[in-house]
Amino acid sequence: MNAEIISVGTELLLGEILNTDAQFLATELSKIGVDVYYQTVVGDNRDRLKKALELALSRADVIITSGGLGPTPDDLTKEVIAECMGEELVMHKESLSAMEEYFRKINRQMVESNKKQAMMPEHGKVLVNHNGTAPGVIIEKNGKTVIMLPGPPNELQPMYRESVEPYLKSKSEYMFVSRVLHVAGIGESAVAEKLEKMMESYTNPTVAPYAKTAEVRLRITAKCKTEDEGMKLIEPVEQEIRKILGNHIYGINDDSIVSVVCGLIKKKGGSISAAESCTGGMFASMIVGVPGSSEILNESVVTYADSAKMKYLGVKEETLKQYGAVSEQTAREMAEGICKNTDSLVGVGITGIAGPDGGTEEKPVGLVYIGVCLDGKTSVTKLLLAGDRAKIREAACLHAFNAVRLELEK
Ligand code: ATP
Ligand code: MG
Repeated sequence: MNAEIISVGTELLLGEILNTDAQFLATELSKIGVDVYYQTVVGDNRDRLKKALELALSRADVIITSGGLGPTPDDLTKEVIAECMGEELVMHKESLSAMEEYFRKINRQMVESNKKQAMMPEHGKVLVNHNGTAPGVIIEKNGKTVIMLPGPPNELQPMYRESVEPYLKSKSEYMFVSRVLHVAGIGESAVAEKLEKMMESYTNPTVAPYAKTAEVRLRITAKCKTEDEGMKLIEPVEQEIRKILGNHIYGINDDSIVSVVCGLIKKKGGSISAAESCTGGMFASMIVGVPGSSEILNESVVTYADSAKMKYLGVKEETLKQYGAVSEQTAREMAEGICKNTDSLVGVGITGIAGPDGGTEEKPVGLVYIGVCLDGKTSVTKLLLAGDRAKIREAACLHAFNAVRLELEK
């Protein structure tokens, strides 16, 4: 089964809003094995929407539209599509009363134009909208399916999950089950080289890599009839990959390196503190992004200037003079200083050159040292990161979490 996404809205064409609906739909459809071959964006224009739909009907099994289901005259998706598919629009009483109820609940007057939103294609299957007024609708005709969804993401996403996904799954003979492995501390090309044979020759399940900041994700996808059958197909392949990549694999599915590290620290019943230079508090901020972080995050200081490194962490003046602020020695003393001062299980020191200026031949932009102090022992990792300032800072934090993980797992 293949699908085409048509996003309707002049705002999208003008670049005023980002097409996150298409991104969401494309991601979700790929998860259930529906191939998306085309995405189209078209303005709130009757003729061009009609042309886009006709083209989509000529090349896709399923067409999913977003937007243009509202009450205003420029919302014309339903009208145009019904006309193209030879469907009359008739008043759908349940939708009308649901809408009246919705307005009562939010204590607002329902205006006459809202009634237009309850007009539905006569043979359509109506999709309930729990978060707004415009219902969605599915039309099946001549072997084609058109699914219309409202534009606001907080309406489209729950409607997709509640009604569209089950519908599409029920239409397909097969289902797709997948498992994502998170890999850190090794680049995409090295992963691809190690798994080359597998990625080329395995057809069910398939193995595909995706490069993300400071990690690679491997998606193992099985085509199957039941979830159980899918897991059975995935299991041996996962074991094979684990044998090859070892402790580079830090988690599965929705895990993140931050949540995994937080979990490990919680398990040990300890806390973490950080001394940050080039990351300016981002490392601590990432920890705070994980619910329950108050149980493990102790302290984090941004020690940007040399004087701050000496004052708060006890970094020695000779160290800074002899080796510089961006050095293995300074990272080590930062990690040890913060660990000792805060009496934490883990102390992390991050120092580097985020650029775009400040790099030299000897110490280029992207050079970052990460010190991790645990149980009185300190290890230092040297990184050479690519990208702009924001990317280098983010990658430095993520690599720091991985360095902490490797120490904790020892
Ligand atoms: P409404 O009833 O709110 O008018 P609608 O179904 O008619 O909903 P639109 O009028 O096309 O949808 O868009 C309403 C709002 O939804 C937009 O202003 C925008 O904030 C959001 N939106 C629409 N399309 C998209 C999209 N493709 N991606 C992300 N957001 C979108
Ligand atoms: Mg609208």
